[in-house]
Amino acid sequence: MTAQKIDGNALSQQLRADVTRRTMALKVKGITPGLAVILVGDNPASQVYVRNKVKACQDSGLHSVLEKHPDSLSEAALLERIEALNADKTIHGILVQLPLPSHIDAQKVIEAISPAKDVDGFHIASAGALMTGMPGFWPCTPYGCMKMLESIGYDLKGKHAVILGRSNIVGKPMALMLLQKNATVTICHSATTDLKAMTLQADVIVAAVGKRNVLTSDMVKPGAVVIDVGMNRNDEGKLCGDVDFEGVSQVAGYITPVPGGVGPMTITMLLVNTLEAAERI
Ligand code: NAP
Repeated sequence: MTAQKIDGNALSQQLRADVTRRTMALKVKGITPGLAVILVGDNPASQVYVRNKVKACQDSGLHSVLEKHPDSLSEAALLERIEALNADKTIHGILVQLPLPSHIDAQKVIEAISPAKDVDGFHIASAGALMTGMPGFWPCTPYGCMKMLESIGYDLKGKHAVILGRSNIVGKPMALMLLQKNATVTICHSATTDLKAMTLQADVIVAAVGKRNVLTSDMVKPGAVVIDVGMNRNDEGKLCGDVDFEGVSQVAGYITPVPGGVGPMTITMLLVNTLEAAERI
């Protein structure tokens, strides 16, 4: 079997066209969805991520503001900036790029963001809303994975989904989203004793570990759907995921590539969340 590729770039293009259309409709009413992105320090990877997020906003007609602060910014000063953005009527979404310098308590900063503007979905109120099935913002990466499953018309009801990784931003919210769609969910982590025994049972596998080749072809049931969230570098320095793409493609029914899979979908769902924050006003 050769797996069908789920193209995150193509799906993003479709979804972003819808964001642009809905943004235009809001602009007619005098509202331009606005995202504030805060970067503290000069982490090179973070600089690329924020640049991509701001550009994606501009390309879709959203207003975006990038605030760059030096590494020396105090926690108190950052909290003050967030308070000001919470009160700013032109800003509907606030994103603080992680990681933050070690002298700043990241969780405290996230909790300072108004839940109504928490478009990253990391606030404890957003996590609670997802857990209880109430309306709120879903974290962009697992939300993007759900859209990818939706795009192939995959019915999760009664299916076994196995997630590799239990972080607060990917693994755990992914589990809750899959559960909401009536999948039976297993979460694996670094203390899981027999990963292969778990993944071989899976109809859907989501790999979110951050290690190359954590999932190989012998660990996948024929026809399974494989979503690769991982972002790693191979020996040549090229971007790659957690999944042995070549090998697993011979066994899986569907597979997401890296690059061009979950990555662009994460940014797309940030645009969707920002737009929806503005639409809710
Ligand atoms: P993280 O916080 O480091 O979590 C990694 C998880 O993997 C942990 O729960 C860890 O278990 C688990 N793990 C480690 N070794 C394992 C193993 N051998 N088998 C099973 N589980 C194992 O990472 P994250 O933030 O969730 O990100 C995961 C990956 O996704 C990274 O490569 C990251 O760059 C990527 N990512 C991509 C996007 C995107 O937009 N494409 C967005 C976010 C993240 P313990 O909890 O026991 O330590």
